[in-house]
Order: sequence, then structure tokens, then C-alpha cells
Amino acid sequence: MNFHALFEKMLKELNSMKKIDFSLVKEELESICDMFRISKIATKTYQNAKLEELGKADVIISYDSGEEGTVALSSRIVTDMLNIITCEVHIRNGAEPWSSEEAETVSFFLDTVTVYVSRNRIQEAAKRFAFFDDDGYHNFRYFVRYLQRADIEGKLTGRAALHFNLRHFALVNKQIGRSLGSMVMHSFFSALEEMISEKGAICRIGGDNFAIICDRECLNDVLGYLSGAAVVYDVHSGDRIMVSASVGVFLIPDDFVMEDVGDILDKIIAASTAAKVNGKQNIVFFSNEMLAEKDKVMRIQHLFPKAIEKEEYHVFYQPKVNINTGEIVGAEALCRWFRDGKIVPPLEFIPILEQGLEICKLDFYMLDHVCRDIRRWLDEGRKVVRVSVNLSRKHMVDIDLLEHLLEIVDRNNVPHEYVEIELTETTTDVEFRDLKRVVNGLRQAGICTSVDDFGMGYSSLNLIKEIPWDVMKVDKNFLPEDENSEGSIKDVMFHYVVGMARAMGLECIAEGVETQAQVRALRNNKCDLAQGFLYDKPLPVDEFEKRLDIGRYEVED
Ligand code: C2E
Ligand code: MG
Ligand code: MG
Repeated sequence: MNFHALFEKMLKELNSMKKIDFSLVKEELESICDMFRISKIATKTYQNAKLEELGKADVIISYDSGEEGTVALSSRIVTDMLNIITCEVHIRNGAEPWSSEEAETVSFFLDTVTVYVSRNRIQEAAKRFAFFDDDGYHNFRYFVRYLQRADIEGKLTGRAALHFNLRHFALVNKQIGRSLGSMVMHSFFSALEEMISEKGAICRIGGDNFAIICDRECLNDVLGYLSGAAVVYDVHSGDRIMVSASVGVFLIPDDFVMEDVGDILDKIIAASTAAKVNGKQNIVFFSNEMLAEKDKVMRIQHLFPKAIEKEEYHVFYQPKVNINTGEIVGAEALCRWFRDGKIVPPLEFIPILEQGLEICKLDFYMLDHVCRDIRRWLDEGRKVVRVSVNLSRKHMVDIDLLEHLLEIVDRNNVPHEYVEIELTETTTDVEFRDLKRVVNGLRQAGICTSVDDFGMGYSSLNLIKEIPWDVMKVDKNFLPEDENSEGSIKDVMFHYVVGMARAMGLECIAEGVETQAQVRALRNNKCDLAQGFLYDKPLPVDEFEKRLDIGRYEVED
């Protein structure tokens, strides 16, 4: 075959390739090189000029007959993407030099080859941009493309889709530093990628969130790894760190129809969110109720701004009672949402508003409305009691919180002694510091504070010792069932908690008192204050005003 025939054959083959691979045209390449007495061809590509300087190249094609030779032709081109491609052709030592016609042909051949090489590069670069993120992880677009292709090929059903979020990865970064943290994340990812290999796909959605689709046979291994794996971050010392994830799994049923990629994503994200919130269960399988829950969350967040503008949130007051005299000594303000003629209880919307910062707005709104009521009662010459308002822990990061609270109270011209702020226990040191600052500030301003739901969170004695509370509200879960439950663990705890509060000069009130038997148990333990359904449920303002006018409840002996 002459050069032209060989060359044409070679180009035809290269053109038919999805990805240019010169090893597949080895025969033609060898014949051409032999024809022109070429001992070596080296084509190198550099990602950029800097790497060219450093000599860091990818070798795309190379032909080497093993014979000694000298450079007879070289070229260097810079592509649109600023890749640099160089090519060198060596002629065998001692071989007859090229004629001018031969030199032209080789030069033409070389240019053509370089163009093919650069095309290959461009394809690869385009692919890299399209399907990888800046950190080298397969990206979300890649995952979507995989799902769509699997769907078309009928290979989606029967498989497992997963979404996972690395647990406490911020702590990992803090412990070993960001760059080692990134390396750990990469290793964790690569291990999963290897585990799944041809049987699925994995991508990083962003941050420490990832998605997987894989055959069910891989699922056990993948879930085992995600539950916790030790990843080496220092190859010399072999130091390792535990990495685990909150995982949502959707087992794609056989009759599943994917209209949109969201049909799968929504499910795995809802399940992994449930796993994250749950705390105990790191792996959660999707169920339909989860989507309903997600809709509910979105609806409540969406309705919030309008609802607050239209004052759909109402203050209900639950009296606090001195169990010995029956006197109303205070009240707790509790939020109720009037929506479409129904009353929505706080547990259905407060935890959702606490996911964002909406709760802060609501708490300020509640305080404002409570202050308006107190001001009115004072102006009407009514008996007025101190009212406590709940404040979410979400406020703790707000450094202007104190000013904001005082601004509301003072704007309504309410004496500070009528306001109490209820705060719940805290879990972290940082929150603890903020809590201490807020409580101290309120005390200086003459506003009482109470620690709400005492005993339910991660109670620490430090919380009581270090923070100048006025009131301890013992959670209903710690109430003795009746006066005969003496000796039960609950009873012992209640006894000592009340004793401790008294000894420290704190007011102590029992929440959730429902029966006379409980009142007797409170009396035995010298806890004088109670709040609960036995006296009243949280009441609308007009009902509460009637109670205030009477001023006391009947007391049983
Ligand atoms: P909490 O602050 O501990 O309020 C006491 C809860 O116990 C109230 O529930 C009250 O209705 C209920 N309760 C009172 N007496 C009894 C009883 O005898 N038996 C039983 N089983 N329960 C009783 P509610 O009103 O449903 O509020 C639930 C929680 O929602 C509150 O717990 C509080 O944490 C939160 N919350 C309510 N309003 C607000 C608010 O305006 N802001 C914030 N941040 N949280 C609020
Ligand atoms: Mg409360
Ligand atoms: Mg409480």
C-alpha cells in the first residue's frame, strides 16, 4: 500500500472512533513510519504553558521502533482551550534524509495527526467540564444523564437509588484540616466508586452531599461502608478517621415510571433528610409519607409571611397556679395558628419554622402581642400577672437579641417585671456561652428567665450553676404519677430536682399537672407552683381575662 492509501485508511478508522485511540491504527502508523525511515514519533499535550515548562505532559501517541534517531521535524500548537500540543519526529540515524517532497508529506501527515490529537483533547476537556466538578468528582449532570440513559434502556427498575450526607464533616475538617479533609472525602468517594464500578453511578451533588444509583446486589456493601468507614489520611503513620453518612434509600420498584429525574431525587433526599434529623437511624428507606411531610414543610414555610402579616397567629394563655392557695400567679403565652377555621397546634408548625429563621420573627411577634395585652390590662385596671414567652434557641446567635427584646417591651410601655422569657436547655459550648450572655443581660434589665422543659434535653448541672435563672420549669415527664409513687426513680429525681432548685433560690414550677394526685405529690415535695390541664388548658385571651378577674381556682384539701 502506498502512503495515500495507508493514510486514507488510517483517517477513516480514526473518524469512526468515538474516542480517538491511536493504538487502534498501529499497523498503518508502523507502515508509514517505516516508509519514511522514522524511528520515533512523540506527541505530547500539556494542559497549560506552566505544565509545559515543568515538562508535565500526557503522551497521546508514540511510536518507537527502538532504533537511534535524530529530530527531523517538530511542531507546537496551542489550542483554543490553551492546551499545548507538541510533536517530534525522529529519523533513523544513518538513514537517507527526506527529499523535499517527502519532508512535505511527513509535515502534512504530522499536522493532520496533531489536529486529531487536539480534537481528542477537546472532547476530553468538554467531557471533563460537563461531567466533573472542579474538585474532580463526577457531578450531578453526569448522574442525571446516567439515570436518563438507564431509564431509556429499561435498566432503572429493580435497582437502588441513594442520597447521602456525610455526618459531622465540619468536625472532620476541624480535626485534621481542610486539605486533608478534602483528601478523606475523595478517598471515601473513590472507595464507593470502586465498589459500584460498572454496576451503577455515583456523583457529588455539592458540598458533602452525594447520590448513588446501583444494582441491589451492591447495596449491602455500600450501606455497610456508609454506616462508617475508617479512612486513612496520613499514609506514613497510617492515621485514620471515621467517616459515616446519613443515608436515604429508594428501592426502585419494578412498575416504577420515571417522568422526571426529580421523581427519584425527591424520594432519596426526603429519606436522607429523615435520616439526618432522626439522629439514631443513619439509614432510612423511603416511604410515601415522607413526601407528604416534605410538602407540609414547604407549605408551612411558604404560608408563614402572609400568615404573620394577617395575624393568623394568636396568643393563648395558660395560667400558672399556686397549688396551696389556688391563686393565679402567672401565665405562659403559647402560640396557636388559626388557619381555614381550624386551630393548628404549635408542634405542627414550630419545629418547621425552627428549621429556618422564621421562628425568630414569630417569637418577637408573640412577645409584642403579649406586651400589648399586658399594657391593655394595666390600662383597664385589671389584675395583671407575669407572662412568660417562649424563645427558640435559634435566637442565640443573634447578638442584638437583647436590644430587640427590650425594644419590644419598652415600645409597649410594659414594666419589665411582668415579662418572663422561657429558654430551653442547650447542647453545645458555643450555645452555652450565648445563653449565659442573654440570661445575664435580661437579669440586668429586670426581666425574669426560666429554664423550660428541665430534664428533657441534655441537662447539665453547669447550666444551673453558671446561668442566673429565676425559674426552673420541670418537664411533665418528671412528674410523679401520684403521691404513692414514692421511691420510683421518677419520684426520687423529682424530689431532688425540686430540692436543688429551692436550695439555689430558684422558683420551681411543675408543667403538665393533670390530676389532684399529682398536686398532692407536688405538695409532698414542696413544689408550690403548677401549670397544667387540671387548672386550665391554654386559653384564648378573653377566656383568660375571665380567669384573671376571678383570680383563683378552688383548692382541694
Ligand atoms: P412548652 O413551652 O413546654 O409548653 C408547654 C406545653 O405543654 C404546651 O403545649 C401546653 O399546652 C402543654 N401542656 C400544658 N399543660 C399540660 C398538661 O396538663 N398535659 C399535657 N399533656 N400537656 C400540657 P403546646 O401549646 O402544644 O406547645 C408545645 C410547645 O411548642 C411548647 O412547649 C413550646 O416549646 C412550643 N411553643 C409554643 N408556642 C411557642 C412560641 O410562641 N414560640 C416558641 N419558640 N415555641 C413555642
Ligand atoms: Mg414553655
Ligand atoms: Mg415546657
